[in-house]
Amino acid sequence: MAEKRTEISELGEFGLIEHLTSSFQTLQPSTVLGVGDDAAIVKQTDNQVITSDMLIEGVHFDLSYMPLKHLGFKAIAVNISDIAAMNAIPSQVVVNIGLSNRFSVEAVTELYEGIRLACDAYQVDLIGGDTNASRSGLIISVTAIGFATESEIVKRSGAGESDILCVTGDLGASYLGLQVLEREKQVYMSNPDMQPKLEGYDYLMQRQLRPEARMDIIHELRGLQIVPTSMIDISDGLASEVFHLGSQSGVGFRVYEDKLPIDKVTYDTAYEFKIDATTCALNGGEDYELLFTISQSDFEKIKDHADIHLIGHAQKASAGFELATKGGNLVPIQAQGWNHMKKDN
Ligand code: ADP
Ligand code: MG
Repeated sequence: MAEKRTEISELGEFGLIEHLTSSFQTLQPSTVLGVGDDAAIVKQTDNQVITSDMLIEGVHFDLSYMPLKHLGFKAIAVNISDIAAMNAIPSQVVVNIGLSNRFSVEAVTELYEGIRLACDAYQVDLIGGDTNASRSGLIISVTAIGFATESEIVKRSGAGESDILCVTGDLGASYLGLQVLEREKQVYMSNPDMQPKLEGYDYLMQRQLRPEARMDIIHELRGLQIVPTSMIDISDGLASEVFHLGSQSGVGFRVYEDKLPIDKVTYDTAYEFKIDATTCALNGGEDYELLFTISQSDFEKIKDHADIHLIGHAQKASAGFELATKGGNLVPIQAQGWNHMKKDN
């Protein structure tokens, strides 16, 4: 497999930036000036919503199973997910990369192919960034900018005591996707003749390697004229995010175990790994779904939506955070969270 390898030094820093960014076009009316000057210019009359997320090799991703194109897509998507969680519309991204000399021009081009796919998918303009050498693997840090009017902005802090708790999509799949990838990597490392067995796990792989930000839901909520009272995206696991909404809003929550949306493949794979599927849904992380509260007056508008699940309700802060189990018990929710800081790297 003699693939062409062009050293980054052959192009130089400016040549590389030109190579990576020349095919990007800017489409947003708020982008006044994109890549190529000392700074970009964005002109907005609405509130600007700004967020950053950094992905570090060995901490947040493992290139032995993460294709660079997927990584590029994911780096943008996780930032767009944060913009979505503010009920804002994303418009621009800035991409900073640290590259070790292990990376060829071809590899970085793959990364940018994924970035471009995501920019197209979420209609955002790449307006700038920074390119540096790294001694410890790949670092990719993205800043996303979005906008929303005053009345559209949704914070974590607005949930009321009688609000309904909603979650989009399904939960736990990304975590199990990671477990499958880790297992197959171990198998491969102990015997490189073994081919990884990934058939049947496609959905889990996709959820882990190429998560989507739920901008579709943000547009639908606008169509339904629903402004959630509070919202957060699920990066660290449902339990942890329920705590964030509750503590920042000054309310407690009751979540019904039998209402948690869990895909069949997630159930089956959890069983295979001898993990409780509910635990995966509560603490798995990296689902990038939206968790939000609505006031009861919006119930009728949302109750039949195929991809929005009503999983519980807010309650007095003194009632705390409870899981109503399938067995009919009320147990305190444990927020283990999915903490990258605890992972070895
Ligand atoms: P300066 O030295 O003034 O910071 P640079 O040479 O770093 O400028 O960058 C030149 C232009 O290319 C700027 O518009 C910058 O935003 C953009 N840029 C640099 N690196 C990247 C990158 N990795 N992705 C996208 N744009 C980039
Ligand atoms: Mg610079």
